[in-house]
Amino acid sequence: MRKSLFYLLLTAILGVSAVISSCNKNHEQTQKHVKYVFLFIGDGMGTNQAYVSDLYLKKRAFKGITFLHFPTVVLTTTNCADSNKITDSGAGGTAIATGHKTQFQAIGMDRNTGKKFESFAEIAHRHGWKVGLISSVALNHATPACFYAHVPFRHEYNIIASQMLRSGFEFFGGGGLLVNGQNRDSLRALYFDSLRQKGYQVVFNRQNFDKAIKTAKKVFLTDTESLDNSQSIYYMIDSLSHVSLADFTKAAIKFLDNPKGFFLMVEGGKIDWASHANDVATMIYETQDFNRAVEQALQFYQKHPDETIIIVTADHETGGLSLGYDLTRYSLNLQLLAKQYRSKLFLNNYLATTYPEGYNFKLKKFVKLDTNLIDRKNFTAMVNELVDALQHKAGISWTTHSHTGTMIPTYVKGVGQDSFHGIIDNTYTFKVLMKLAGF
Ligand SMILES: [Zn+2]
Repeated sequence: MRKSLFYLLLTAILGVSAVISSCNKNHEQTQKHVKYVFLFIGDGMGTNQAYVSDLYLKKRAFKGITFLHFPTVVLTTTNCADSNKITDSGAGGTAIATGHKTQFQAIGMDRNTGKKFESFAEIAHRHGWKVGLISSVALNHATPACFYAHVPFRHEYNIIASQMLRSGFEFFGGGGLLVNGQNRDSLRALYFDSLRQKGYQVVFNRQNFDKAIKTAKKVFLTDTESLDNSQSIYYMIDSLSHVSLADFTKAAIKFLDNPKGFFLMVEGGKIDWASHANDVATMIYETQDFNRAVEQALQFYQKHPDETIIIVTADHETGGLSLGYDLTRYSLNLQLLAKQYRSKLFLNNYLATTYPEGYNFKLKKFVKLDTNLIDRKNFTAMVNELVDALQHKAGISWTTHSHTGTMIPTYVKGVGQDSFHGIIDNTYTFKVLMKLAGF
């Protein structure tokens, strides 16, 4: 009797566990892995960079920032491995790209131990996915470098460029290449030659993008007419006719689309630069361009909603941007920013080239300036004073010309959006992507 009860129970338990295990199996079989991963990094894009852009654009009856309405938004830490340091794009990008914290200015490795960290892009590539990297700044600048390079310091541009050659990634697009040393143009040309030897079609003119993406196996696309001295695309506020992040994103999607899967990282690198310059109008145009690139991904998502994830995040905040200024107290007059239609950088360069001998400006009518700043050649200080006065009147203020340690928002849409909750660490995105992709 006892024995038969025991067997009865045993069969019941085994039966139940068999059902459970078959459920698990079915669940595993039916659970599709993500195949298309879009990772957008707004360099320096804190909550307010995106929010101010949205408010301002809507005030001027333009389209607002689409990704602010993504179904999942979580706060994200940005701290690096050094306990008393605010992060940079090297350590910040490494955390996002590889899931490991590292030291300030290190790229894809631990500087103290020499240990290299493999990035999601490298792992995806090993699994047969195509990989694309886009940035509005040079493609061997810190953020894109974190996805293929492993160097102790971010400014080792020549070594980073050599490591790019070895990545084998299919698509590079946006800015050019930075090099260190003398005869930079010829050194840069050598790197482009090496890329060609590795099977890349290198394109310097946007008119040839379409042709290249139809015929080539691997591409490096840039548009030299749209690049400034730092090998980055001119600020959008200065050059709306130049190539944009959305142009590159559109080309990349066409080029990378394949049944096995792809990973595309797009960096809005000059949201950070405009924020370093404390130049809010310029920053807004960069964020608008970045948002248009995200919209390209959204169009792809509509066609593949069950296999696509779009993540929009940042490596850190830059400038300590705030809505509100002490002297203007409760006023917020963002529409005033429309009076600025060139970047601080452009204005400085323009004045310096137009008045090489200096010029005595009479600006007291508009704004009280330190008279030392008004005359002679100190255009940088003068432009800063003028633009800052306008920003303050609009109710905008900044706390620093460097990065801040605040948390930043991560916006997610698509398969796996529910894996993000509350506050996440900047190493978390990598871990979720690994799971979602089944690597
Ligand atoms: Zn920065």
